[in-house]
Amino acid sequence: MSVLTLQNIAKSYGKIQALKGVSFNVPEGSVFGILGPNGSGKTTLLSIILDVLKADKGNFLWFNNPSSPAQRKQIGSLLETPNFYHYLNAINNLKITHSISHRGNETDGIDDVLHKVNLFERRKSRFSTYSLGMKQRLAIGAALLGSPKVLVLDEPTNGLDPVGIAEIRELIKDLNRKGHTIIMASHLLDEVEKVCTHVAILKKGDLITSGAVDEVLIDEDIVEVGSADMTLLKNTLQQYTGVIKLQEENNLLQIIFPKGTAQLEAINQHCFNKGIVLQHLLLKKKRLEARFFELTNN
Ligand code: ATP
Repeated sequence: MSVLTLQNIAKSYGKIQALKGVSFNVPEGSVFGILGPNGSGKTTLLSIILDVLKADKGNFLWFNNPSSPAQRKQIGSLLETPNFYHYLNAINNLKITHSISHRGNETDGIDDVLHKVNLFERRKSRFSTYSLGMKQRLAIGAALLGSPKVLVLDEPTNGLDPVGIAEIRELIKDLNRKGHTIIMASHLLDEVEKVCTHVAILKKGDLITSGAVDEVLIDEDIVEVGSADMTLLKNTLQQYTGVIKLQEENNLLQIIFPKGTAQLEAINQHCFNKGIVLQHLLLKKKRLEARFFELTNN
């Protein structure tokens, strides 16, 4: 089932086209990353699906239905850091947030939320004594009030130190394991790779691609080979099992295999059996960054 369906969403601010007709689906149970450099339209997109901004064109469906107040209750969000009271503890801060948001019927859920974001032990400490990571976990806790099925988070690790970043990434994965679908914006490929199951890549308001992370950011093995007779080498390797493609670069032949499947010894043996002596044989890993730049640069 699709939690969110975007159909041709467009939005301009005067002459700036922040989104140029973006469509994709967010599957239920996913951690869905919206990945793109600064200014690519991520926050605009999240603001539209949260009814903070209105799209100029296109529409979106939550749980296959147009957005409604009842559905909004199934969506928790963190677009900007909430203003917590520094001299109050986590329980009282969440009580205040709850009374403003009206999400969920009772304040009983606060203990559950504090457990979920791993702040139960520190629930009676003042907010001012929290680390940056704990503050952000409380902000995610506020978004979890009323037990929404979906969480929408804008750059949830921004501004945190490495420990805080690790805490939040773990928390997101844990919340996903507990049944929440998570939609999060990020400008970090590494983060999306570590945390997300699915991704949509935006560049200057255009959707470059979307789908499962493993499929979109395919990681490949590249084997570089060279020999005196490059034509014979190429003809020999054309039919080699498991090859995705062959390409020539710097007088060498690059053989592309799916991630983790290239076997140098077998390639060497195969060539030798065909009467070819290799002068060069090297395994290179195609980095995900290379794939990301390929996608966003062209
Ligand atoms: P960042 O990570 O820097 O927040 P982003 O990917 O979230 O970037 P948006 O904030 O959605 O991107 O911005 C998309 C484009 O729209 C940018 O060119 C930005 O300058 C422009 N923009 C965003 N908000 C406004 C606004 N209120 N008025 C005018 N232009 C805006």
